[in-house]
Amino acid sequence: MPYVYFQTFGCQMNVADSNELCDRLGARGYQPTEDPAFADIIVVNTCSVREHAEQRAQVRIGEYARLKKKEAHLWVIGCMAERLGEVLKKKIPGVTAVIGARSIDQIDTIIDSLLPNQTIESLSVKKIHEASDFVSVMRGCDNYCAYCIVPYVRGHESSIPASILIDTIRKKVETGIREITLLGQNVNSYCDNGVDFPDLINKVADINGLQRIRFTTSHPKDCSEKLIRTMAEEPKCCRHVHLPVQAGSDRVLGLMNRRYTAAQYRERIAMIRQYMPNADITTDILVGFPSETHEEFEETLALVREIRYTTAFMFAYSVREGTAAAGFPDSVPQEEKLARLRTLIDLQTDITKEIYAGMAGEQVELMLGARQEKRRRDWMARDNGCKRALIACDGAESGMILKATVVRVSGMTLICERTAL
Ligand code: SF4
Repeated sequence: MPYVYFQTFGCQMNVADSNELCDRLGARGYQPTEDPAFADIIVVNTCSVREHAEQRAQVRIGEYARLKKKEAHLWVIGCMAERLGEVLKKKIPGVTAVIGARSIDQIDTIIDSLLPNQTIESLSVKKIHEASDFVSVMRGCDNYCAYCIVPYVRGHESSIPASILIDTIRKKVETGIREITLLGQNVNSYCDNGVDFPDLINKVADINGLQRIRFTTSHPKDCSEKLIRTMAEEPKCCRHVHLPVQAGSDRVLGLMNRRYTAAQYRERIAMIRQYMPNADITTDILVGFPSETHEEFEETLALVREIRYTTAFMFAYSVREGTAAAGFPDSVPQEEKLARLRTLIDLQTDITKEIYAGMAGEQVELMLGARQEKRRRDWMARDNGCKRALIACDGAESGMILKATVVRVSGMTLICERTAL
């Protein structure tokens, strides 16, 4: 039996692409392994968002090239594969194929050319252990934020036809999937012959057996009232909106080419809270953008204090060659960027802990995820927003939804007890 080993860097779209490739290789008889030295194919799915991410991936690919079996394949896929192309084969001897992010839709044809004598048996051979999965609904991005390499690497936006998505999700539900996260760099731009993203959510919600729908990411400029109303009206839609703000200063937002002001962003938040008062709102923030002043950074802190995100992904700006911002004079010293990042993380961590602490005694609806390795009665779970939970129960399985009470809070985990079936 041949084996495949996956190493995935980067965002959830990469995770979705790795899962997709794993399914396709599974249909050709390949089983996943945890040991790269044992694998017949090693796949490294790469990210180009930061220079550091590319460097890490290249080091790892070099290690795999040294330890792999002599005849094993070493495939590099994803954004760095798209950006550097065949150069990677010269740079890292041992790489046998480079498959860019834009080619992922032709993956069957590519596998056929790389593994010519393999036949497809069935597309549902992979055993599903968990009940959640990702599905990319769009590829590419047309927004060209000044700091971001994604549009150059992944290309223009294109939407995957709704009929294909519904068919894909239906098949996943047949294998035990109960929760789907719809992915795109900007899902609000989804458009397939008049079917927009809220329409797609309604179509996905009609699939029998599917219990929860999540999605990410929404660009604030396109986050429409129709989308928020659809979420509020559709019980399968989780109460979680990830809305990257990036900065609290209008001048910095303008430089970033985000195409909204802080006031317009605040209006979107007010709309979300009007329709779904208890929704978890999360964000991305970039500090130390070229020429960001201390006062402008304070505007970001003020916005974070006011909005009270449940959690946030926070980064210090680092230059990415090939983007517009790479040409901006960068007057913020590295130590200052890191100091701002620490201040922001401390503030957000306090807010996150307060929000979690405020959940004590509340009733929540949990979906069970993975079982704990050592304490087999304990399950990791997620509430109807984005909060993590731990619950002990017998006779359970991944994907089960149950009502629970938050009996206490441990840092950023809700410790729950089951209250009813
Ligand atoms: S919306 Fe902006 S940050 Fe997000 S992928 Fe597109 S260009 Fe990059």
